[in-house]
Amino acid sequence: MGARYEEDDEADYPFLRESIRQRPQRAGERTAKQQAVRQQTSRQQPAKQQAARLQTTKLQAVPQLSAKQDRNARQRQAALIRRKRRMRRRKQILAVLLCLLLAGSVLAVRRLQREQSEAGGQAVSGELSAGRSFGLFGEKIQGIDAGQYEKHPEWTEDFLTISEYSRPGEPLGEVKNIFVHYMATPNTSAAQNRSYFENLKDMHDVPGASAHFIIGIEGEILQIVPLDEMAYAVKGRNEDSISIECCYKAENGQFTQETYDSLITLLAWLTDTYGLDTEDILRHYDCGGKKCPLYYVEHEDAWKLLKQDVEEARK
Ligand SMILES: [Zn+2]
Repeated sequence: MGARYEEDDEADYPFLRESIRQRPQRAGERTAKQQAVRQQTSRQQPAKQQAARLQTTKLQAVPQLSAKQDRNARQRQAALIRRKRRMRRRKQILAVLLCLLLAGSVLAVRRLQREQSEAGGQAVSGELSAGRSFGLFGEKIQGIDAGQYEKHPEWTEDFLTISEYSRPGEPLGEVKNIFVHYMATPNTSAAQNRSYFENLKDMHDVPGASAHFIIGIEGEILQIVPLDEMAYAVKGRNEDSISIECCYKAENGQFTQETYDSLITLLAWLTDTYGLDTEDILRHYDCGGKKCPLYYVEHEDAWKLLKQDVEEARK
């Protein structure tokens, strides 16, 4: 305790030592004799007692400070406390600012990531219907140069939900062929067939099936899988081909004129877009032998004529 008092408190209150030194002088009425006796007595006292006496003397000195010194001491102490408070407050403000900065940075990074994924989305998430992306060679939509994409025949975009039974959400490789199919049930609309594919995800015991497009009996075109994604239409060729399903009325599977015309326009645009030859248009039958599309498998001349019509449409 004694050591603490001397080291800490005396550093802050140097006047304490001074006042102790001054005390005997202030008590001027003591005679020199009395002083001498006092000093002699104290020299004879054991060191321990002398230390205790000194301590008492020091403690007694506090109430004897002058009013001015006391005020100075209080002011200094108050200033010290204020300074400490100020420092603490500054530290708190700094901590809050750092937290805000950190939170702001995190939010900014997240927003940037979201914007990038929206702009450059490959539509794999299923929610990004536009499928726009910006690469070194300009803007692409569904993996196609924006300028060429805008020339596509009129169609309605109604993508399937991503599911392992119809739209796996996997990227399509380099397109080498376009396949033409027909839907198994006659007299159905494009929308009805889309629903069939969409519902496959809930009927877990069926093989996967889909296409990129369905053309209805009124000639309406529905796009149900983006062109930069794989569809399930031709076993072993889903990775590098695009498929079109066609609806029909006639028992023999022949397409209506409206369906046929839309098909020719779509095939012309697709072959141009992917730099393919008209001979690269295939029937599902040409890869695996399935009788699809029925009429154009049973009528080879009709199939040849169809390709000629595409050739004409491309000019
Ligand atoms: Zn088929």
